[in-house]
Amino acid sequence: MRFFVPSHSGLGRAVPLNVGTMSTSAHPPADAIHAGGTVTDRLVDANARYAADFTDPGMDARPVLRVAVVACMDARIDLHAALGLQLGDCHTVRNAGGVVTDDVIRSLTISQRALGTRSVMLVHHTGCGLESLTEDFRHELEDEVGQRPSWAVEAFRDVDQDVRQSMQRVRTSPFLLHTDDVRGFVFDVTTGLLREIDPA
Ligand SMILES: [Zn+2]
Repeated sequence: MRFFVPSHSGLGRAVPLNVGTMSTSAHPPADAIHAGGTVTDRLVDANARYAADFTDPGMDARPVLRVAVVACMDARIDLHAALGLQLGDCHTVRNAGGVVTDDVIRSLTISQRALGTRSVMLVHHTGCGLESLTEDFRHELEDEVGQRPSWAVEAFRDVDQDVRQSMQRVRTSPFLLHTDDVRGFVFDVTTGLLREIDPA
């Protein structure tokens, strides 16, 4: 029997572990373990271990801090740790760039109108992948697949300006109930610090 060991140094690295002591139902059944499987198999295995120690926190779906955080999907940003957030505190909406697209407005609208959030925090970051792209990305896609994507790449050169644009999109949305507490930040992936962006 081989289990994956959580490690950032060797994704998918399987090492043999002694499973002889695993005798309770809290552990995943043997057939749930995918030795040498895909990364998703690894995540499913991790979930079985997570669920084994999980107890129902008894929360409802309304975020305790009544805040929605919109952030880039960048793998280097541990949003909950970086912002001192606990389970149940906030809504997190993430995409490439943390850009406020129509779909982000959709999520924020539901967050505010159905689930009671009032504040919006935007988190972009240094070294974003979108800084190395241009709208040529769309044209190249169209050339390759013969179909133009309906979405914009939302590439940018100036991260501060990109945060300002995102703040403006939230503040001017006709669908949102609360646009008075909207603040934007750049997260430095090398120091872990946020820098607030003046909306002006
Ligand atoms: Zn990014």
